[in-house]
Amino acid sequence: MAARAAMTALRLDLVHIGSQQAERYELLQFGSSAAADAHRRGHLDDRGTYRWTVTAPDGSVAASRGYSALFEEWQSTVAGDPQPREGRFNESHVVPWVAGGRLRIERREAGERFRTIFDTVLPDAGMPVPPAPWRSDRRLHELHGDGPVRLLMVAEGFAAGEEAAFLAAARRACEVLRATDPFSAFAGRLRFSALFVPSPASGIPTRPEDAGTTSFGSSYGALGMARYLVATDLHALGRATEGIAHAATIVLANAGTYGGSGIFNTNCLVPAGMDDADFGYVLPHELGHSLGGLGDEYFGKEVTYDTEGADAWQPWEPNVSPMDVQGRVKWSARVAAGVPVPTPWQHAEYLRLMQVPLLPSADPAARPPAEVRAELAAVMAQEPWAERIGVFEGARYLAHGLYRPESDCRMFTRSATRFCAICRETLAGVLAGASPDA
Ligand SMILES: [Zn+2]
Repeated sequence: MAARAAMTALRLDLVHIGSQQAERYELLQFGSSAAADAHRRGHLDDRGTYRWTVTAPDGSVAASRGYSALFEEWQSTVAGDPQPREGRFNESHVVPWVAGGRLRIERREAGERFRTIFDTVLPDAGMPVPPAPWRSDRRLHELHGDGPVRLLMVAEGFAAGEEAAFLAAARRACEVLRATDPFSAFAGRLRFSALFVPSPASGIPTRPEDAGTTSFGSSYGALGMARYLVATDLHALGRATEGIAHAATIVLANAGTYGGSGIFNTNCLVPAGMDDADFGYVLPHELGHSLGGLGDEYFGKEVTYDTEGADAWQPWEPNVSPMDVQGRVKWSARVAAGVPVPTPWQHAEYLRLMQVPLLPSADPAARPPAEVRAELAAVMAQEPWAERIGVFEGARYLAHGLYRPESDCRMFTRSATRFCAICRETLAGVLAGASPDA
């Protein structure tokens, strides 16, 4: 990996800092980079809570990109806390180097309105900029395909002697995605690569307090949720992937406990040691978040059903929608005549099953998770309007007030065997449109 291409991009290591009410970015360092990765042409700006934009000295937009950030999730978890809280999260962004241009980062406020939270001038062409730091102990393996949409799988929590185990995990991920629509339909556009970087210790900590033994600061238990597995040191992840153009980062964690995360145009994290059924659900689901900007369609887990504020807050995800007074949602044009709106489904039965306490638990009503999952799958298999586009109430953690396009989807239940039509088309658009800049 000694040879490096011409420096056409800049990597900026930023810290996203703020409280319940305010936020800002601080620039820690920046360096020249060999590759701005794929799909940086602004066509994804309709998604993501944030957006960066690079403008040329004449003010014209050279590139932009929507994304989401762990910061906003943290902010929502502390929103009701009366004590002032401060959150600090590492982020790394690679942007095209437009000499003398500007980089602006904005946060979405409502709909298409954005507010600037960071603004800086990019270096002139004659200005010496040191290369962005990178990990020289990495090893890049090509697994399959040579298309323009590169899915880069990165090792996390695999120690120096565990490269073979990581590669086996990466091959399994490759096979799962190659067999999952719409990835299978776009096989010719895909390229699967695996990047091994050794972690100081083997395994993934179960608590954020114990993070630090892996390359990218990952742990379970992020934001107080046991199954939420996230990488927090995105500067370190930026150093690992430096100069490797790719459309999506899939971090494969050396752990078997159910969990994961996917943050739009940032990365997704999946435990590589889960059994086939869970791995086959979690990997496409989290990539749906991180590559497609899809929202969770489920509700009834670790959330309240408070719909206050749902009217004012407009989800940007294409598969989640409120309903206006005329009964319209984002995908109304796709709902066929004869499909009732809202579309009936077994809402109460789903909610009842989602609230069953699961073993291990001291609750005498607790039942084995597999048994409850099987019952839920049986319920979902009997939906009268299955696989039809409709307007199904319950989505994105809310039982009421938000709607999803089909009764079931990979963004909804673990038993789903396909993405709904809207999620599939959204992902297909990314796979068809993404192309490398460099
Ligand atoms: Zn969906």
